[in-house]
Amino acid sequence: MGQPFTREGDLKDLGTYPRWLQDVVRSTTRQKQRIVEHDFFALMREARLPKAALRRFLVGAWPTIEQFPRFMAMTLKKLGVGDSPGEDLARRFLIHNIRVEQKHADLWLDWARAVDLTLNDIKAADGIEVPNTLTHWCWYVCDSGSTATAIAATNYAVEGLTGEWASLVCSKPTYAASLPEEIRISATRWLRVHAHYDDAHPWEALEVIATLLGASPTVSEVETVRRAIRSTYCYYELGLEYPMATLMHGSFDETASNASTLGALDAA
Ligand code: FE
Repeated sequence: MGQPFTREGDLKDLGTYPRWLQDVVRSTTRQKQRIVEHDFFALMREARLPKAALRRFLVGAWPTIEQFPRFMAMTLKKLGVGDSPGEDLARRFLIHNIRVEQKHADLWLDWARAVDLTLNDIKAADGIEVPNTLTHWCWYVCDSGSTATAIAATNYAVEGLTGEWASLVCSKPTYAASLPEEIRISATRWLRVHAHYDDAHPWEALEVIATLLGASPTVSEVETVRRAIRSTYCYYELGLEYPMATLMHGSFDETASNASTLGALDAA
């Protein structure tokens, strides 16, 4: 590593981080923004998603949610105490956030129950190859990538993007208000914890990446991080085709999609 980096400025100020990392974040922002502004999340915010589409979303994203702590564990197993300041920081960050992400998996299931999905329904779901590309990518990069690359692809890119669309959905009370009062709080808790403006997780990930690679990494290290973030956004966007297919087939009526290839999931 060339010049080391130790954070001195505000955690949540991009200007705190090395120039190369600011450039990586800025050069991938447009791709991220396209997903945050995707029709799917706009419809969710307006409570206009058909139940079948929401069910597909909750089922399709589950493997990534469920495996997220495992992705982090794959990175953690490579990190010993005292290996380097960056690896020490990565280790502390991962150990803390594995617990947090376990809780997020529980909250996801609470949300799924709001559309009458049980864990067994989710586990039995078939035909989720397209959204599963994100899961496979995360598994691959955490298994074979550098620590900085793995954390960029998962903790920075997946969690950062997710926090932004969750903030958008929670920016109006419409979706929460559309749910029966008795489940409103539990069914929206996953959204609210990710929408929380103080969510430090993606920022902490940036700090870890900067500390691992320092202020002057090689061009190849920088490009590997940038490509990893881009790949995550690409597979994330691709995964939205699965719930969007319900809308494409004109199934705004939540009971109308059985005739298509959409399967039993859509028979809400
Ligand atoms: Fe999370």
